[in-house]
Amino acid sequence: MGVTPATRIDPFHSARHDHAACIDDALDRASALCEERGARLTALRRLVLELVWRGHAPVGAYAILGELQEGKRRAAPPTVYRALEFLIEHGLVHRIESLNAYVGCSHPEQAHVSQFLICQSCGGAAELDDAKIAAAVMRRAAELGFTVERQTIEVRGICPSCRKAA
Ligand SMILES: [Zn+2]
Ligand SMILES: [Zn+2]
Ligand SMILES: [Zn+2]
Repeated sequence: MGVTPATRIDPFHSARHDHAACIDDALDRASALCEERGARLTALRRLVLELVWRGHAPVGAYAILGELQEGKRRAAPPTVYRALEFLIEHGLVHRIESLNAYVGCSHPEQAHVSQFLICQSCGGAAELDDAKIAAAVMRRAAELGFTVERQTIEVRGICPSCRKAA
């Protein structure tokens, strides 16, 4: 159904998993997608995407900038923001408004409206891609004469592994 079984069972990726494979997969998909769309995944854009994917918790722009500078790559904040905008535009990254942070999307091929479950203990985020929720919001908004331009639902709580640890 568009979601891999592993994602379904462990949406927070809290169980030990091969994260290097996650990153490789994300970068491969990004390359393929950009090529297909005739978009340029420059070295910097690719690097920024890789840094966003360093984990499954949303990452702030300044953390990305800091890592770029550590890697001796000179990048001014506007350059990083432009790279992030490109990645968002192509659905490779989502912006979590409430955290002012970015998270990689594991299914950028299809356009979708996301809902995020965000753990306030570890900062992990799980993306729900539930068309029914999105449709319900659109329907209620339309009933109120409201035009939705963009919707991202962000839900705070405690993830399964943090709950277990508590
Ligand atoms: Zn991973
Ligand atoms: Zn997504
Ligand atoms: Zn957690």
